[in-house]
Amino acid sequence: AEEVGGGDKEVVREYFNNDGFQRWRRIYGDGEDVNKVQRDIRLGHSMTVENVMKMLLDEGPLAGVTVCDAGCGTGCLSIPLAKEGAVVAASDISAAMVAEAEKQARNELLGGKEELPTGLVLPRFEVSDLESLNGKYDTVVCLDVLIHYPQNKADAMIAHLASLAEKRLILSFAPKTFYYDLLKRVGELFPGPSKATRAYLHAEADVESALQKAGWRIRKRGLTTTQFYFSRIVEAIPA
Ligand code: SAM
Repeated sequence: AEEVGGGDKEVVREYFNNDGFQRWRRIYGDGEDVNKVQRDIRLGHSMTVENVMKMLLDEGPLAGVTVCDAGCGTGCLSIPLAKEGAVVAASDISAAMVAEAEKQARNELLGGKEELPTGLVLPRFEVSDLESLNGKYDTVVCLDVLIHYPQNKADAMIAHLASLAEKRLILSFAPKTFYYDLLKRVGELFPGPSKATRAYLHAEADVESALQKAGWRIRKRGLTTTQFYFSRIVEAIPA
């Protein structure tokens, strides 16, 4: 597993257990302690989560559907999925993220009570990089994690996620477009204190061909854009 992302992977793990954890917990939260750019990213990311929930619900109710949320972060997707009755396996390379996601899930789903409402189950949380995940799930979702993978590592990552999914795979990633490339370059010219990991953008055609190689085809596409946040969403099914 150490091969994936090369040395990047250790850097990513370290970042999301420390500075990155603090930063992204604020962005994905609802407190006032964010700046203008972070607030914009918060809005964009919440739109991605909404779009993905809509895509998932379009195919029918989620009660009893098994979902693997790979790279779950603070649980922004796992929690609404569990609220719909999905049986969620949530994992992340960062132990800090997993602990936070579990805390938020308990708060939101139990709401201080001892037992969950009938039909709902708490997500199962696990610290794991996504290359080490196994098992089979109706649906595998991986939101905004590809940004940590260069394209040459992304193919294997996508193939692995596809091997865990029986019915559908939903991925979101920062699309490699001219405008976003430019923004990223501007970001590199003026690195803020919060910038600690490399960001990799992906051409949609590259992601699509990785899916095709794994025997999957894209059925639906979505795009979320705000001023500072861009995310392409693809839903794939076995070809
Ligand atoms: N998917 C979540 C969401 O959309 O709310 C979190 C997105 S956050 C930008 C990226 C997350 O991916 C971080 O929590 C990070 O720890 C995790 N991550 C990065 N590389 C990973 C890997 N190789 N395996 C598992 N998780 C990883």
